[in-house]
Amino acid sequence: MTATGGCLCGAIRYEVTGPLRPVVACHCNQCRRTSGHYVAATSALKRDVVIAGTPRWFASSDTAQRGFCGTCGSNLFWDGPSNEMAIFAGTLDGDPGVRLATHIFCADKGAYYEITDDLPQAPGDHPLPWVGDRA
Ligand SMILES: [Zn+2]
Ligand SMILES: [Zn+2]
Repeated sequence: MTATGGCLCGAIRYEVTGPLRPVVACHCNQCRRTSGHYVAATSALKRDVVIAGTPRWFASSDTAQRGFCGTCGSNLFWDGPSNEMAIFAGTLDGDPGVRLATHIFCADKGAYYEITDDLPQAPGDHPLPWVGDRA
């Protein structure tokens, strides 16, 4: 599978040459602040992600950084300690074939909206099992 995507202004483009994880909606405080609402993100093995352009990286914790375009401000990546990197699903081109599968950190969600689909809701973290080749 190859998926492509990029930021609003086009300065950052990326290509994913391996499988994508189903999309997870994260309602944590960090995701809400960085996105202005909540984040929906897929994930890919870091070795499968090729980035063209130079994202800016913000260390949002001791173990993770968030990648965004320094020109247009698009939020693109969440890079944590595992061998996977989260990719904000709204930045993907076209239909990448993955769908929203679950909500996490629902205990931290904003008061101004409700989660109205029938997908599972976890109060905190609840990583999805990886569907691709984890080697
Ligand atoms: Zn941009
Ligand atoms: Zn989050």
